[in-house]
Amino acid sequence: MAAEIIDGKLIANEIREELKKEVQEMKASGITPGLGVILLGDDPASRSYVTAKERACDNLGIYSENVKLPVETTENDLLALVNKMNNDPKIDGILVQLPLPKHIDTDKVIMSILPKKDVDGFHPQSIGKMIMGKETFLPCTPYGIIKLLLHSNVKVEGANVVVVGRSNIVGKPVANLLLKKSEEGNATVTVCHSRTKNIAEITKKADILIAAIGKPEFITGDMIKDGAVVIDVGVNRVDDSTKKKGYRLVGDVEYKTASEKASKITPVPGGVGPMTITMLMYNTVKSARNREKN
Ligand code: NAP
Repeated sequence: MAAEIIDGKLIANEIREELKKEVQEMKASGITPGLGVILLGDDPASRSYVTAKERACDNLGIYSENVKLPVETTENDLLALVNKMNNDPKIDGILVQLPLPKHIDTDKVIMSILPKKDVDGFHPQSIGKMIMGKETFLPCTPYGIIKLLLHSNVKVEGANVVVVGRSNIVGKPVANLLLKKSEEGNATVTVCHSRTKNIAEITKKADILIAAIGKPEFITGDMIKDGAVVIDVGVNRVDDSTKKKGYRLVGDVEYKTASEKASKITPVPGGVGPMTITMLMYNTVKSARNREKN
């Protein structure tokens, strides 16, 4: 039987509607949430992510300040801009679009963002708190995946979850959130990476399989257990001369064969992607709420 589609767009819209109401209420009491977005260079994928974030802010009534800088911007100039946003009371959250050019130390830039404005959840303080199960900003893509599972009534507690990929922005944090001692977590988690042996033997045991690899259609139907829930984080451009843009987007999962085995599956696009931006909005509103409290 064909898998049920986990509609990330629909779930993201539901969350955004709630956020919109909350922003209206906050504005009525004199607080406008604000997001500062910094983009260096003109990488097309980064540019389209930043545009989507701007649009989401506009749609929710969140103030946004978008600074687009040339690729040759120096590390010092970038740090000075982050510092300016750190001290700007209109800005509740700061996002520096990654990847940064090679001449810039990404860790240094991430660490320069005040943890109270770290709406991407990449600062070591946020990551440390997340691992300890303490209140903090959770990184947007992993948090979005947890919300997708919850909204789709997927039982995480006690499930065998296999995460393929161990990056700091997706694989490691999502594995950690799924381990959390709470109803949203309590899973048994296995993490695979490029040095894992017999990967298909491991993925075939997953009740929930999360692919965050960056390799088009790497996970095929024969690597998936019957009835598993499949979350495809990958976004890959593959050449396609039949498309106006000359390419199409595919995930890290071969959708056609995987959807014949899975019970539920996220599409690409329209699965995890819309949730990532939504959780960024969620974190920005949360930061503004914290400002209101203090
Ligand atoms: P990344 O930093 O490149 O990490 C990829 C991970 O996959 C690494 O841990 C790597 O292992 C592992 N890997 C690579 N080849 C493998 C193989 N043959 N077998 C098993 N594991 C392998 O990528 P990322 O930032 O996590 O992103 C992953 C994908 O998600 C990309 O397509 C990206 O565009 C997408 N993404 C989407 C969103 C969204 O909002 N939808 C957000 C973030 C990322 P090693 O550690 O051993 O190298």
